[in-house]
Amino acid sequence: MDIDKPNNDLKCEFSYSHFENVLRQLKKEYKFVDFEYNFKPNEKIILLRHDVDISLKRAITLAQIENQLKINATYFVMLHSKYYSLEECSKELEKIVELGHKIGLHYDSKYWSEMKLEHQSAFLKEINFLKTRFNISVKVASAHNPTTNKIQSIVFPNNIKNAYDSKFSREIKYLSDSVQFWREDCICKNWKKYNQIQLLIHPEWWTETGKKMKDIVNELFNQISSTKADKEELIEFYDSYLKKVQSNIQ
Ligand SMILES: [Zn+2]
Ligand SMILES: [Zn+2]
Repeated sequence: MDIDKPNNDLKCEFSYSHFENVLRQLKKEYKFVDFEYNFKPNEKIILLRHDVDISLKRAITLAQIENQLKINATYFVMLHSKYYSLEECSKELEKIVELGHKIGLHYDSKYWSEMKLEHQSAFLKEINFLKTRFNISVKVASAHNPTTNKIQSIVFPNNIKNAYDSKFSREIKYLSDSVQFWREDCICKNWKKYNQIQLLIHPEWWTETGKKMKDIVNELFNQISSTKADKEELIEFYDSYLKKVQSNIQ
């Protein structure tokens, strides 16, 4: 055995190869389930969730890796992202469904407030739009930036689950890669401690070579046609978000 050769399995970075390695390890121990699944208290399960904030195109690679490993995830998509439009990315959404994954709504209450929309009806309309436009079932929704957006309560109808429901976030372990910051170290160092996990992975932060946030945002902006989007504003937002969560931890 060549002891100088680094063990790639243990190299923590936001790369596709690490993502794949992590999933391979997790698959040996856990059952990957969706938000509809009625898990028992002692069952070892993972709810694999992807909130798509900036790029649905970026999500395809993760969806393919998961498909090859026979793992199903739920992709939460936005109808009003400044950075991608579902109409322009309809093929990508269809591809994700084809690869065996579920679709959820990732809603942005800040957008509704800015547009002076009543939140409850905007929420129901967005769910309905997703279902009818893509002919899919939508059974779950997650809030975008729940820590910074002013929370206006939405009543979830009985047939729609809330990904932030305590059943999925407090009663089981919730781990997120938010802006490439794991809070409790990378999932690969951590998972053994927990039997039931909601694992939130943002597809944008994972690349072939494990690029850093600013490089990723710069690169993504070169591909964005929308002029509404402000790159500096986004980087600033992520920077301040990181400062906030990091200071909460110390
Ligand atoms: Zn790791
Ligand atoms: Zn989001």
